[in-house]
Amino acid sequence: MRSVEEHAKVVSGLLSPSPAVVVDLSEAAGLVLAHDLIAPIDLPPFPNSAMDGYAVRAADLTRFPITLPVSQDIPAGRQDTGPLAPGTAARIMTGAPMPSGADTIVQVEKTDGGTETVRIDDAPPAGVHVRTTGEDVRNGAVVLKAGTVIAGPQIGVAAALGFASLPVRRPLEVLVLSTGSELVTPGLPLGPGQIYESNSYMLASAITAAGAHATIAHFVADDVAEFRARLSAATAGIDLIVTSGGVSAGAYEVVKDALTGQGVEFAKVAMQPGMPQGAGHFGSIPMVTLPGNPVSSYVSFEVFLRPAIRAAMGYHQLTRPALRLPLSRPVESPAGKRQFRRGVLDAGAGTVAPWGGPGSHLLSWLAGADAMIVIEPDVTSLAAGDHVEVWLLG
Ligand code: AMP
Ligand code: MG
Repeated sequence: MRSVEEHAKVVSGLLSPSPAVVVDLSEAAGLVLAHDLIAPIDLPPFPNSAMDGYAVRAADLTRFPITLPVSQDIPAGRQDTGPLAPGTAARIMTGAPMPSGADTIVQVEKTDGGTETVRIDDAPPAGVHVRTTGEDVRNGAVVLKAGTVIAGPQIGVAAALGFASLPVRRPLEVLVLSTGSELVTPGLPLGPGQIYESNSYMLASAITAAGAHATIAHFVADDVAEFRARLSAATAGIDLIVTSGGVSAGAYEVVKDALTGQGVEFAKVAMQPGMPQGAGHFGSIPMVTLPGNPVSSYVSFEVFLRPAIRAAMGYHQLTRPALRLPLSRPVESPAGKRQFRRGVLDAGAGTVAPWGGPGSHLLSWLAGADAMIVIEPDVTSLAAGDHVEVWLLG
């Protein structure tokens, strides 16, 4: 039997680092920046007012109150701002360019708000409320480092610097194919002996949440020829194939039957759920074959595929955030296998409770869990209060 670590190494070894591609800003969220982003301009690009008010020369404010003529009006976006004549004030709005010669911004609240002349009652020291050129970012500076995960603020600063697109690590294209002659598409009537197909939807959304692109090839019956034909037809442009079902020890194990000795190695991994696993290639395309029980499939994704996909796409954070927390209830675990149990956190108490039984068909309990409890192979019994490793599924 393989250890979890051994199989994780096999799976991550299948994937090559994804290349850099350029995407529109609107498509960059959640992806990893491929190269350092160098500022092509200063930010702010010109000195401007941080307040609505009046631009003046500090030297002209010889007493308070003082009344000065308003020599120009400078809204944001004005392109022909002239120098400030000595002994005058310019009415100025937030973001508007400072007229040359002005060094002080008086907020409108400290004036009578006049447009011909303005009475100034008080003023801050020179420079306050003036945004200087390059105060935020200097032209030529590294503003975002390669490896940064791009979210709203990173997209914001890129746009502010004039970038319409960004170099990112290309999302992996992952094909998801379920197997099982008992499966029916959700929305259609269910016949005797049939169940709705859930794994392809679940895995595709988990793959998307991990940062990659998923294509659902739907499902095929337990028929080797059909399985091979469906895969062959769908693999153009695919970086990784993920299947579910057909890999355990029974008969009609379509994935095993089709691919044993054909580039995929099937192994038992010392974990529960998720013991039967397979990994290798279909032709030249990396392939991971997950067990069909929905909870096994999902746990296998979390343990093997999510970190492998994220490593290939350049994320630094591969694993879920993990904590050690006391159990609020006792839990048993089989010897010799690492057990992954669904859990629910009690943030107030700082504890975790096992959620549902260990059965790998108990999908609603997975759906109700917000944590995974990890119990090492040599631990068979834990009492309330014992500490366990907990992955936050978030
Ligand atoms: P298998 O791994 O193919 O032996 O399937 C194990 C269990 O998981 C069986 O109860 C299947 O009916 C169920 N199962 C397999 N694939 C799916 C799927 N895509 N969606 C829902 N249940 C599945
Ligand atoms: Mg099956």
